Amino acid sequence: MTKFSDLKLDPKVLKAVEAAGYESPTPIQAGAIPPALEGQDVLGIAQTGTGKTASFTLPMITMLSKGRARARMPRSLVLCPTRELAAQVAENFDVYAKNTKLTKALLIGGVSFKEQDALIDRGVDVLIATPGRLLDHFERGKLLLTGVQIMVVDEADRMLDMGFIPDIERIFGLTPFTRQTLFFSATMAPEIERITNTFLSAPAKIEVARAATTSENIQQGVVMFKPSRKDRASSEKRKLLRALIEQEGEGCSNAIIFCNRKTDVDICAKSLNKYGYNASPIHGDLDQSHRMKTLDGFRDGSIRFLCASDVAARGLDIPNVTHVFNFDVPSNAEDYVHRIGRTGRAGRKGKALMICAPNDDKNFADVERLVQIEIPRIENPIKVEKPAKTEKPATDVSAEKPKRTRTRKKPEAKADSTPAVVETEVKPETAPVVEDTKPQRNAKQNNNRRDNVVVGMGDHLPSFIAMSFEERRAS
Ligand code: AMP
Repeated sequence: MTKFSDLKLDPKVLKAVEAAGYESPTPIQAGAIPPALEGQDVLGIAQTGTGKTASFTLPMITMLSKGRARARMPRSLVLCPTRELAAQVAENFDVYAKNTKLTKALLIGGVSFKEQDALIDRGVDVLIATPGRLLDHFERGKLLLTGVQIMVVDEADRMLDMGFIPDIERIFGLTPFTRQTLFFSATMAPEIERITNTFLSAPAKIEVARAATTSENIQQGVVMFKPSRKDRASSEKRKLLRALIEQEGEGCSNAIIFCNRKTDVDICAKSLNKYGYNASPIHGDLDQSHRMKTLDGFRDGSIRFLCASDVAARGLDIPNVTHVFNFDVPSNAEDYVHRIGRTGRAGRKGKALMICAPNDDKNFADVERLVQIEIPRIENPIKVEKPAKTEKPATDVSAEKPKRTRTRKKPEAKADSTPAVVETEVKPETAPVVEDTKPQRNAKQNNNRRDNVVVGMGDHLPSFIAMSFEERRAS
């Protein structure tokens, strides 16, 4: 087995790696570090959780230890698709470069230009950036990319999903032709292949695991969820999520809950909080400082549940996540692999549970096709909770549905903190949920209409027809 000491890394880097507690290089590190140190381009096909950040950061620090940064001319550039991922690479850099004097700047949206300009003006060895913010700085004339010797593109397939490929091509064009490129992607979509063919020169190709491979450390399961009624699907789904969390007991010390839509991320977090679960949302509509604070809280354990969208959570390195819950089946099958890859990292065990609603069937089939396994079906835990003696056999979650009277008493319910009532409150205007009261109102309207039936007039009954003879004469 390869040892870190075999990799010709700078002794200061080796010391930092040792301090980080790493015993031996991961396969992507063992494969990518030697060619990178020889100045070769690298094409790494690896997903997050494989140790790929260190596979480019360690050789970069080693190579940059000779030479000095010049004002406004960074010596190396790391491009990341999201702010969180960029911030995480920056944190990794701090850990691995702690015994060196190398400097870095993080250029991400949501942070003031002034602070970032000041850092760049002083000169940085490593610039870690999202493509949009980097180009903003460039266009404001604050930055020159002609001094870039090493350029890293991280999570290129996510860049593609987010529409960043034209920006990436432009940035490639602004850096010197002679630069070294370290390029990482979990998959090799045709567009990614085209970019690598254009901008990489005879790269060493290291593929550690196909993107479709889910880690053996992750126990997977899916509940095939059938709401009792269409208009109750959302609240019943949230109830099912709570039941799944409960079922996992203390083993579920923290979890990421993925939703497909940002509105659902918010609803989910709000709902969990109302039920006494400590949850916070993270998605692209929240401002950067808020997102960072949430992430820090999740890392230090003060937040137990992180409700997340794909983009915000992509590539996050949170080593001790015990569970991933897929509140929705992802519409892009590869996101399933990325989502569940948040757990079972660095040799630990993890669990990934998913809720599959009837209209998720097609997406679910795509996921199973991609991962090439049949994801074990698990029983709906709400069924188990059903009281033994029921008069009529209620089907799964419908047995738990809130009584109509509760919803009718909604104004009073606000003061009441019992969870069953609260659930109706968390439905915001945006939630595609029809309140229980609506069918009642409709029923009432229908009854009224039935009392006044005028055959053959359809719904467009002219008002004078419904008047009495006296009324009509008087008008
Ligand atoms: P990454 O794929 O870069 O997001 O890394 C995933 C996790 O693996 C991070 O928590 C790293 O700190 C950790 N890690 C990276 N390299 C090693 C290693 N050689 N041994 C043990 N853990 C590592």
